[in-house]
Parts: sequence; structure tokens; C-alpha cells
Amino acid sequence: MRVRVSSKGATRLLAHHPWVYRSDVLEGPDQPGLYPVVSSRGVMGLALYNPNSEISVRVFSFKDAGRPQEVLLENLRQALRRRKEAIAQEPQGAFRLVHAEGDLVPALILDYYAGHGVMQVGSAALEPLTPELVQVIRAEIPLQSLLAKNEQKTRSLEGLPLEVKPLLGPVPDTVMVREGSIVYRVDLMGGQKTGAFIDQRDNRIRLQAYRGETALDVFSYHGSFALHLARNFKQVTAVDSSAAALQRAGENAQANGLSNITFREANAFEFLREEERRKAQYDLIVLDPPAFAKGRRDIERAYAAYKEINLRAMKLLPSGGLLATASCSHHLSEPLFYQMLAEAASDAHRTVRVVEKRGQGWDHPVLLNVPETQYLKFALLEIL
Ligand code: SAH
Repeated sequence: MRVRVSSKGATRLLAHHPWVYRSDVLEGPDQPGLYPVVSSRGVMGLALYNPNSEISVRVFSFKDAGRPQEVLLENLRQALRRRKEAIAQEPQGAFRLVHAEGDLVPALILDYYAGHGVMQVGSAALEPLTPELVQVIRAEIPLQSLLAKNEQKTRSLEGLPLEVKPLLGPVPDTVMVREGSIVYRVDLMGGQKTGAFIDQRDNRIRLQAYRGETALDVFSYHGSFALHLARNFKQVTAVDSSAAALQRAGENAQANGLSNITFREANAFEFLREEERRKAQYDLIVLDPPAFAKGRRDIERAYAAYKEINLRAMKLLPSGGLLATASCSHHLSEPLFYQMLAEAASDAHRTVRVVEKRGQGWDHPVLLNVPETQYLKFALLEIL
């Protein structure tokens, strides 16, 4: 059985972009599964296929050789092997073991938290292979537990149930992980996403290079950036709208013996407006908002929201102050992100130097031909 795609679909695949939309599928099996993809040019590759999904074809190999299941499991094995050295060096750390398309294992996210795994399956074609996936994972990575945290809304589009279940147990509620010179507790069951935002790990560690009087961490989640900053800044303020996240942020501060973080449960937009009104100043500000643009249609509104928080933050920084600012929305491209920052700087009447352009950690690999895999922008800016 094969999936036949139109010449438009084939053009995408020829450019090594792995997705073909339902409207570009000419014919295919009724059941989701792993199949070769063909066009009038011949065999294009091997793919996860779900006739009921908007993105029906997700290619994991652009070669026409091999049995689909074996090729996919080999891709998984290779992804895990690329992380082995890092885990051996920091077994108590947190790493992304599989980054879906970026690792040529579409629809699979697997994160490692100090010996405990959390995975998310986002395709009806992949779901039935879960036992085989677990077998490969166990053989490559020493794991005490593995949790399937299949709660992403996109699963409903695939016709999959939303559920959380242990695949290897027993799964603890929380796990303590190490990140540079700090530790933090991850809520595996109740936390956002798989429990933590590992993609910012190296950026958080990077900020330990700075010191000063006051720092502000906006969209702090469980204290992440604030914990690192509290080592070198006298007073740190951490802001988030989630009381549950801030509760854990407080516990994380304690676990590190830090008593110089003030936690504020607030809407970041209102908080920044209020800080501007009372003419507050900080030596360093972190902005790490959730994805404001969930789809292409949201771009304009999202752009304005990103600009608003960056503009306000720039006004709260004195000359010599630092702004570490991020966007995790792949719909806001890197050029647009920097354009937005330039407009914010201009509206704030500030000259701003780009100290460093950064992105997601190495364990969230990017495919050059798949812009969607390069989602995190992180700019380190100095106000002149
Ligand atoms: N900086 C964190 C990750 C932030 S994720 C880290 O490195 O781990 C985005 C965070 O923003 C979430 O914790 C979410 O609760 C919070 N959030 C979402 N909308 C918000 C808003 N309008 N105001 C304040 N916080 C918000």
C-alpha cells in the first residue's frame, strides 16, 4: 500500500520539506500507518500517513529504501544516541531526547528529566507503534520511568484521545533536575508541556555571566531564569500568571537556598504597564512569553503583543541595562522578530546593541528546509 501525492505535494517533498497536506493527496490507504509515498516522479520517501489529518503525510525518510517501521525506529535510535554523551556527563540534567521532525521522527517528543522520560505522541499513525518505541528507548537510555503525557490539543485533530498514562513505572509526581549551578523540581504530571521548558536551558545558563542590583523575570514559570539570576543579582522579581507555577518557583528558590526572589502573580501586560507608570528600573529583564501566534492568522495581533512587552521592558532599563527577550512562535520568523525589536527600540527612543543572537538548545535540532523546526528566537540586547 502506498500514498500517492499530487505534483504540488511532490514539489514540497523534492525541497525536503516533510509535510504534504490532505488536499495534495491523490489516493492512499483508509487506515493511518507507515507507508511509502509516491508521485508521478516515482517513490519520494517513507512517511507517517493519516487520511483524517490536515497534515496527512509526514515524511521521515527521503530515500525509497527500507521497511518503513525499521527505518523509523532506526531514526529514533540515532536521535537517542546523539544525546547519550550529554546524559552521561549530566545524568541529573534535563534534555530533549527526540524533537519530532528535527530528529526525523515526526510527531514524537521525548524529554529526559534526571532518569525519567516524558513523551508525547502527536499522530494516529505513530500511536500504535508505542510499544516498539518504548522498547528502543529502553535499550538506549537508562530510564527509571516513562510517562505518556498525551494531552496536546492537536491530538484531537488526529482522532486520538487525550490521556496521561505510565508506560514504564512507577512514575513520580515530581523530579529534581540540575541545570548549571542550580536545581529545580519538575512537575511531570501537573506541569505545562512535558514539565519544563528545556529549550531555554543553555540561554538560562548563559545569563549567569551577568551581575547587578535588580533583575526581572517575566513569564517565569517555575522560577527558571530567576533562579539563575538570583545567584548574581541582589534582588530578583519573578512574574507569572500561574499560581501553581509560582508555588513551585518558591519551592525551587528554597531548594537552592535563595531568599532574594520576589514572586508576583500577575498578567505580564498589566504588570509591565504598572512598572512603567511608577518609573521602575531594572538592570536586566527577561521576557519569555508563551507563543502569542498559534497560527499564521494571528501574526498581526501577536506582533503587536510582542512589541508592546518589549517596548515597555526597554523603557524599564537604564543605559547599560540588558534585555534577554524570546519568542517561541515559529509563525513569527527570525527576521520579523528582529524587525519587531527594532520598532520597539525606535518607539522607546533607545539605541540598542545586539550582544548575541541565540535560539533553542542543541537538543532541539533544526532542519534547514523545515522552518517550523526553528521556532525559538532569543536575543540578548544591551541598551546604550
Ligand atoms: N521562562 C520559562 C518558560 C515560560 S513559558 C522557563 O524558562 O521555563 C510561559 C509562561 O508564561 C508560563 O509559565 C505561563 O503560565 C505564563 N503566562 C502566560 N500568559 C501570561 C500572561 N499574560 N502574564 C503572565 N504570565 C503568563
